[in-house]
Order: sequence, then structure tokens, then C-alpha cells
Amino acid sequence: MKRLGLLGGMSWESSIEYERTINELVRERVGGIASADLIIRSFNFADIEALQVDGKWDEAGQVLADAAICLAHSGADAIIVCTNTMHRLADVIQSAVSIPLLHIADTTAAAVKAAGIDVIALLGTRYTMELDYYVGRLRTMHGLTVIVPDEPDRMTIHRVIYEELVRGIINPQSKSEYLAIIDRLLAKGALGIISGCTEIELLIHPEDLRVPMFPTAHLHAVAAVDFALAE
Ligand code: GLU
Repeated sequence: MKRLGLLGGMSWESSIEYERTINELVRERVGGIASADLIIRSFNFADIEALQVDGKWDEAGQVLADAAICLAHSGADAIIVCTNTMHRLADVIQSAVSIPLLHIADTTAAAVKAAGIDVIALLGTRYTMELDYYVGRLRTMHGLTVIVPDEPDRMTIHRVIYEELVRGIINPQSKSEYLAIIDRLLAKGALGIISGCTEIELLIHPEDLRVPMFPTAHLHAVAAVDFALAE
């Protein structure tokens, strides 16, 4: 079994779900008391969020790249960045190490396409919904038509992530607001929903929706196990 290097803590509310899912799947597939071979570097999210807010993306890239180098030196066979937003720095991180970075947008796009869907709505932080590193990759590399919420709805989604979900707050009122936003996206033609922030799937679940939902943290964790157990 290959060793996985996780860059987590962004936030730990979703990183622990990665650890749980990866271990559960390894036990299911390998049997017995098998569990995953993991190294987890969990950041203080207050430090990371401050870099985001201050626009210090170069510094954030250095921090994550240095951590990825440490994971590689500790024997990791792949890097898993347990957040959609910090995939803004995927190229910087990947260029620092010779082991692969399993890109969350690629694993998500593969699931969307496997479901036969080509028009998809994306929820996430405003970085993920507005900048090209994620939407652009889904469009140009994977040929998907991506619909993002309007500005006021993007603000609501972003606020709930940082003021509630990364703090472990699951608020039914926010869930209703998210579901109303999703209805507006469906009215615009979306055939499925990407929960493109690893904490959103703590609030919204596939059974809440009448179209397929693509939970990025879960799909990324499954891809990590596929990698770890591949011959
Ligand atoms: N976990 C979130 C994501 O998937 C947001 C937190 C962060 O800024 O990394 O985008």
C-alpha cells in the first residue's frame, strides 16, 4: 500500500472526514484490521486564512510547498491537498516535489462526467467560484459548462464557510439559504451540484437535492485510496 501525504487543517473540520473516509475504504477493500498509511500535516487555519485575506498567496504557496517537501521526504507517495481553495497553489506545490499531487478538481470532474453530466453548478469559497484555477480547469481541461451563483449568493456561500462551517457550526438557517441558492442554479440549467468546498458536504447532503451532488472531499478521499491501493 502506498503512503499518502495529506496537507490538512484547512479546515480540520473536513480533514478529519478525509482521514475517516480513507481509513474506512482501506478497511473495506483490504479487509481485516488494515488501515491507511498516512502522514498528515495539519495547519493552524488562522494563519492560512490570514494569508488568504491579505492576498499573500505567494507566501501561502511557499508554506504549502515546504510542507509538501517534508511529506515527500517522510516517504509520502502522493500529496493530497485537503481543500479546494488552496488548489489555487497546486502548480507551486506540485513543482516543489516529484511525487504526484492528486488534484481535487480532476477527481471531481471525472465523477461529474461519469454521471453523464456536462452542465454543473459550483459552490465554494469566493476564490474557487471567481478565479480561474478551478472553474477554468473544469471548463478547459474537462470540457464542462460551469455555472456559478450570482454575486449576492456567492457572498452568502463564502460567509457561511468562514463564519460557520470551518468553526464546526452547522446552522439550519444557512442550510435553507444554500438550498435556495441551489434552486436558483437549477433554474439556470445546472444538472448537478459540485460542493466545491470541503466543508459544504458537512451542511448539504446528496439526499437534500433532486439532482446529483458531487462532494469534493469525499471524491478526493476515494481517489486517494484508489491511488494508495493501485498495483
Ligand atoms: N476547505 C475549504 C475549501 O475546500 C475552504 C477553506 C480554505 O480556504 O482552504 O475550499
